Amino acid sequence: MSRTVAIDGPSGAGKSTIGYALAQEIDATFVDTGLMYRALTLAAVERGVDVEDGPLLGFLATECRIEVERPRPEQTDRFETVRLDGRDVTAEVREPRIDRAVSAVSRHAEVRDAMLEVQRAVAARGDTVMVGRDIGTVVLPNASLKVFLTADAQVRAARRAAEMGAPDRLNEYLAEIERRDAADSGRAIAPLRQAEGALVLDTGRLSVRECVESIVARLGDERA
Ligand code: C5P
Repeated sequence: MSRTVAIDGPSGAGKSTIGYALAQEIDATFVDTGLMYRALTLAAVERGVDVEDGPLLGFLATECRIEVERPRPEQTDRFETVRLDGRDVTAEVREPRIDRAVSAVSRHAEVRDAMLEVQRAVAARGDTVMVGRDIGTVVLPNASLKVFLTADAQVRAARRAAEMGAPDRLNEYLAEIERRDAADSGRAIAPLRQAEGALVLDTGRLSVRECVESIVARLGDERA
């Protein structure tokens, strides 16, 4: 049976960095589900689809081809490449216009149903580390291990500002993070929640290495 690790947490908690490092360490496939929601949001924005129109967004999710794949070795700026109908949109999906719209797109049942199917199919192929908001609670409720990463909003905003090379825009990032925290935790379907039995790690206090080591140790305990 394949091993699956579900990692959830709010924006900027370090899910991708820690999830990717963990996947390397345990030789698993890394899947960032946020990228899939971002790619769908880009498709909607480009086609002028209303972010309130759940049925149309659900249709779009099944119509457009969203693929996440391993980057080429020289693409050291990313953990994964995301394609929309064959086009590499990895950089575009991180633009502020996508940050602003993605939570609205992601809250619809039609959208989540379409994504759920794809995400479960990916995890069924082999050992997987999957990161997102509802992985331990909804997508992979039987995951080998569930992890919840947290950090103070200030810490997460400072991290995002440093990543973007814009420390002077800290307050903007903080406002954006707080807005997305509220939207993702407050929605009716698949809200951001700590899964029961999850290993909780505060990435404001622990280094990436320490988090990965705790997860690997817990995985070992679960198998024993
Ligand atoms: O993780 P990231 O910040 O890239 O995710 C972007 C957005 O996608 C989140 O704010 C959330 O609205 C949505 N998302 C989701 N469920 C997931 C992953 C992401 O609703 N499993």
